[in-house]
Amino acid sequence: MKKILLLGSTGSIGINTLNVVRAFPDKFQITGLTANENIEELEKQIKEFSPSLAAVRDQQKANELQNKLNKTRIISGEEGLLEIIKEGNYDILVSAIVGFAGLKPIIEAIKLNKRIALANKETLVVAGKLITELSLKHKSQIIPIDSEHSAIFQCLVGEEKASINKLILTASGGPFLDRNNNELEKVTIDEALNHPNWKMGNKITIDSATMMNKGLEVIEAYWLFGLPKEKIEVIVHPQSVIHSMIEFIDGSIKAQLSTPDMKLPILYALSYPDRYNYNPVVTDLKKIQTLTFFEPDFDKFTCLKLAYSVIDSGDLAPCILNAANEVAVELFLNGKIRFLDIPNLIEEALNKHSMSGMADLESIVGCDLTIRNFLTRKFT
Ligand code: NDP
Ligand code: MG
Repeated sequence: MKKILLLGSTGSIGINTLNVVRAFPDKFQITGLTANENIEELEKQIKEFSPSLAAVRDQQKANELQNKLNKTRIISGEEGLLEIIKEGNYDILVSAIVGFAGLKPIIEAIKLNKRIALANKETLVVAGKLITELSLKHKSQIIPIDSEHSAIFQCLVGEEKASINKLILTASGGPFLDRNNNELEKVTIDEALNHPNWKMGNKITIDSATMMNKGLEVIEAYWLFGLPKEKIEVIVHPQSVIHSMIEFIDGSIKAQLSTPDMKLPILYALSYPDRYNYNPVVTDLKKIQTLTFFEPDFDKFTCLKLAYSVIDSGDLAPCILNAANEVAVELFLNGKIRFLDIPNLIEEALNKHSMSGMADLESIVGCDLTIRNFLTRKFT
């Protein structure tokens, strides 16, 4: 029985993780759950999975919940996530929080030698070096949940790193693949939130529309698989059936395919190195029939270009990119800026801040805060 602590259980990945866990009551046990605000959903989850611990950020909401439930201890406050990491009884941490908030809990879990099933890609973007070094030192394994990285991880089984010629990350291209720059000027929030293939949280859905999501994934792949950025290629594949590929030095290409459904990479991260018998996700290639591929348009999707550029622009550059993107996406979702302002604000943040410096936790936290303050001030 593997014990699981699930951070961000009320989100899209969190709920899908619980769908997977529900299918294997004799293999997985939930021992901890966390949410930010969605107390109603968390309450339902606690009643069903009976974890010994849960964490809620808001103190008052935590108290209300504690009064209703007496078998689960509810931790609250800013430090609640760190407390549950330290006090929880678990083998695997599923990190399904969105954004920078996931960083400190992951670092603490790595120090405790836990297996990390990682959905929260922003943490590897901002602190890739630190996380990689710590996970080596503490022998904590990071298994990706992101479908592209899971695909590559699966294709790597039985292979040597030296045999890789390049990684090929597939991208759906999002809802605006066929729009030109003039049309992009006018897109609405609802159009940007309408992803053709995946149902996900709002932040990653906007990242998919700007293609920043693919940019973040290039950086994520850089750290997970330790290859130079020239060996990480992005290819647009609108059907999202091939989740990514590896081209080997002998010219062979391995790919991993399925109907787009996050339950599969989540299950693999939990069951690895085994595979479990599971049938809710069916892939009928006869119905899919056509798979297409083409070059991404780097001039239209500036975010993708910016993400490639920060990989070797200084240790803090990815942190600036990520913080600026998180703020810009929030501003867009609140109707304060237009879609094409997102890449412009990120570029401005990168141009106006020093990208060099130590990438230790304190500097990363400081850099993140500086960029948030810089951009938030512009709009208040
Ligand atoms: P959601 O927005 O659906 O869920 C986010 C979760 O994190 C919720 O449980 C939310 O709680 C919690 N949360 C948000 N902010 C905080 C905070 N400051 N402190 C603590 N908890 C917080 O996001 P997704 O599930 O879509 O994505 C989660 C991560 O997984 C992201 O990093 C994303 O890039 C990555 N990912 C997602 C995929 C997907 O298919 N959705 C695919 C691949 C990667 P509450 O509900 O209470 O607000
Ligand atoms: Mg992905």
